[in-house]
Amino acid sequence: VNPNDDRNNRTWRGSWTEVEKTLAMEVLNRMPAADRVAMDGVAMNKVDQMSAPAAEPASVLPPNLPEVLPAAPASTWHTIAHFRYRITTTGLGVVETKEFMVSRAALENPKKSLGESQADAQLTIAHEIGHVVEKQAYMARCRAMHDALRESHRTWNAYEKARLEVEAQVQKMASAQRQYDDLNQRVTAATAAKNQAYDAYIAAHQAAQDAVTAYNAAIEEERKGAKPDWPALKAALPSTKATLADKEKAWRDLATTMTTLAGRRDEFAKGDFGVANAKATELRAARDQLAAAAAATLDPFRAAKRQVAAVYDAERQQTHRLKNFVAMVTTAAMGADITPYAKKEWPDKPQEFFAESYAYFLFSPETLRRHSPALYDYFAGGGYRNDAG
Ligand SMILES: [Zn+2]
Repeated sequence: VNPNDDRNNRTWRGSWTEVEKTLAMEVLNRMPAADRVAMDGVAMNKVDQMSAPAAEPASVLPPNLPEVLPAAPASTWHTIAHFRYRITTTGLGVVETKEFMVSRAALENPKKSLGESQADAQLTIAHEIGHVVEKQAYMARCRAMHDALRESHRTWNAYEKARLEVEAQVQKMASAQRQYDDLNQRVTAATAAKNQAYDAYIAAHQAAQDAVTAYNAAIEEERKGAKPDWPALKAALPSTKATLADKEKAWRDLATTMTTLAGRRDEFAKGDFGVANAKATELRAARDQLAAAAAATLDPFRAAKRQVAAVYDAERQQTHRLKNFVAMVTTAAMGADITPYAKKEWPDKPQEFFAESYAYFLFSPETLRRHSPALYDYFAGGGYRNDAG
């Protein structure tokens, strides 16, 4: 075993001696090939004194993801060794920690430091690796879910930036926009006045036609013996004509006013304001595209979340691996007393029975068989990797 030949992207921290590293690598090399991926990227940390892990900072969800993240699985804090998995996403990125901690005492003076359950440093390490293996599928899918979350953050941040750019542009254009709005309002008013004058002209035109029609009808009626009011009928004709000319002039004058104002407005729109306005339109389009992109991250995130749920019971904060292990133990009606420690933690922390079993699976499968053939078969047959719900 060459402890420096560690190709699984692990880092070694603390004052590991070469002998201790070799011991640890021996444990790692005993793992079945299918389990080794669980230890990829794990920080192997030797510490002088174990300290209780700090509270986990909660992930920050972007506003476009009205979601709840599954609660992390329960883990047992040991004073001699511990495996810590935490993953947090903020607007800046995903922070994932897979930290394996073993105390100086456990490595240098194992007999004294360990409980009755674990005889030496290698079993201590193997026990912790058992915890890692139990969480393997959960961790991998949790990572994918957080990567999806990160993508959602990224698009949301981009949208937010674009939104502020639109706001800044609108702010910059505020005075010109007011000028434009004022001109446009005047064009609108002039258009309404012109339309009104046109309607009045058309009404006058109609009145003139009606006067002529009435005059002609009177001629016809006189022939049949009637006596029309000729002075009134005659008076209507010239007066209507004058009104008609006035109305037409008013309409044409207002039309000219409107055209002039519209020209001024359009001229204004073509200049700096037009350029700024085009820029605002462009920025708005970019913003809307990013809003859609941010909204589109919801589905991939939910899909990744379902992938987590396929191997992890968030309500019980228990991996399916552990749940299936418990079911097997219950079905086989075996005791949890493979070690006093496993027995002590059963049934509240069944992960300890799992971890103790895994340690013996690596170092003494006979111990598993002596405890229960079903337990031996479960590990020898790879049943402990069952992620099904
Ligand atoms: Zn444990």
